[in-house]
Amino acid sequence: MSLVVMKFGGTSVEDPAAIGRTAAIVAGRVSMGKQPVVVVSAMAKVTDQLLRAAAAAAQGDRTGALAISSRLRSRHLDTACHLVKAPADIAALTRNIDEKFNALDEVLRGLAAILELTPRISDLIVSYGERISSRIVAAAFREQGIDAAHVDAREVIVTDSQFQKAIPQDAIIERRAHEKLLPLTAQGKVPVMGGFIASNEAGLTTTLGRGGSDFTGALVGGAVSAEAIEIWTDVDGIMTADPRICPDALRVKVISFEEAAELAYFGAKVLHPATILPAVKKNIPVLVLNSRNASCEGTRIISLAPHCNSPFKSISVKKKLSIIDVVASRMLMTHGYLRQIFEIFDKYQCPVDMVSTSEVSVSLTVDSNEKLPAIVSDLKNLADVKLEGKKALVCLVGEDIRGQQGIAAQVFNAVRHVNVRMISQGASEINMSFMIEEDDADEALRSLHAAFFKSPDPAIFDVEARKQL
Ligand code: ASP
Ligand code: MG
Repeated sequence: MSLVVMKFGGTSVEDPAAIGRTAAIVAGRVSMGKQPVVVVSAMAKVTDQLLRAAAAAAQGDRTGALAISSRLRSRHLDTACHLVKAPADIAALTRNIDEKFNALDEVLRGLAAILELTPRISDLIVSYGERISSRIVAAAFREQGIDAAHVDAREVIVTDSQFQKAIPQDAIIERRAHEKLLPLTAQGKVPVMGGFIASNEAGLTTTLGRGGSDFTGALVGGAVSAEAIEIWTDVDGIMTADPRICPDALRVKVISFEEAAELAYFGAKVLHPATILPAVKKNIPVLVLNSRNASCEGTRIISLAPHCNSPFKSISVKKKLSIIDVVASRMLMTHGYLRQIFEIFDKYQCPVDMVSTSEVSVSLTVDSNEKLPAIVSDLKNLADVKLEGKKALVCLVGEDIRGQQGIAAQVFNAVRHVNVRMISQGASEINMSFMIEEDDADEALRSLHAAFFKSPDPAIFDVEARKQL
C-alpha cells in the first residue's frame, strides 16, 4: 500500500478556488495509485477569529462575539454553496454547518454569562474551525469525483488533558488510526479529517497548540506508517533565505530533519518543529509543497541529509528581539544564580532564545514582548539589568558545519561591517547564530547569502530556477 498523508494548511482551503486546487492535487495523487489520507486546517484566519470571538464573549461582549460567529457562518456557507451542487449533498452540508454554528453560538452566549474563558472552553471554541472546514473539504472532494469520507479527528487523535497544548498518546492514536482510517483506505476511500483538534480519553475536545495541523499530519503518518507526509502550504518549500529580502534565494531540494527543525525554531515558519518528530521516529520523509504551484517538487525533509558541498543549507533571520544583560558580581563563585534568573522567565512564561554567560554577566535574548518591563523589574532584585530592543538573530543552519574548520571566520568575514552583539554555536553543532541590530539584518543576510551560495550544489539546491532569472 502506498499511503500518503496530505496536509493542507489554512491558505490551501481558504476559499472555493483554493479548495478546488486542493481537490485537483488529491485527485492527481489518487490517479498515480496513491492512497491519500487528507488532513486540513481551518480556513485561513478562522482560528484567530474564533479566538477573538471567545475573548469578546469572555469580556461580556455577547453581541461582538456573535457578530464574529455570524460572519464566519456566512463565509463557510458561501464556500460550501460554491463548491457543492448536488442537491442532497449541499442540503446535508449546510444543515451540518448551521448546526455547528448554532452550537458555537450557544457556547459563546454561555461564556458571555459566565465571563471566564478556561483553556478547555477555548479548545472547544477553536475546534469548530477544523470541524467545519474538514466537512466542507470532504463534500467538495466528493463533488469532484473523489470518494472522500469525513472522519472526526477527535476520534483518532487522542491526547492527555493539557488543553491548548495537549500531548498525543501515540499508542492509542496508532490503534485508532488502524480502526478508523485503514478500513477506509482499504476500500479505496480518501479519509478527510481536521488537523489540530483532538480529544482526551474522556472524549473532551483538546488541541495540539497553534499551527498544530502539521503535527496531526505527522502523527497520522506515523500511526499508519505512511510512505510520505506531504505538507501543502503556499510557499515552494524551504528556501536558502527569505526571498523577500534576498531575491536570489534558492529552494532547498533536500534537507535533514535536524536542520529543518533548527530552522523552524529560529523563525523560518514553514513548519512546526515538533511536527516532524513522529515522522523522524519512523523514518518517514516529509515533503513541503506549494498548493499554488503544485508542479514544483518542494523540499524533501529526510532523516539523513546527503552530503552537500556548501556548509549551510539555509540562513534565517528573526527580528523583533531584545537582549537582556544581567550583570552582578554576585555570580562570582556562587551557584543557583542562573536558576534564579531562569525562574523569573519561567514565572512570566517567556521563552529565552539564546544565552551567553561570562564570570559576572549573563545575556539573554527574548522576543520583544509586553512582559519585558515586569521581567526586568524582577531581575533588578538580583542584579543590574540592561534591556536593549530592536535586535535580530541571524541563524545559519547546515549539517556540514559540524567539525569544519574556519567556518566562523568565513561567516564573520562576510559580515565584518556589522556590529555583532552575541554569538552562539548550538550544542546541536548544526547552527551558528549571532545577534545584531535589527537595522543591519537585511544587509547581513544578503552578504552572507552572497558569500555562501555563490556556487550552490545542484544536488541540494534548485539552481535551475536561478538560471531562469
Ligand atoms: N488552525 C490552527 C491554527 O491556525 C492549526 C493549523 O492551522 O495548523 O493554529
Ligand atoms: Mg500552519
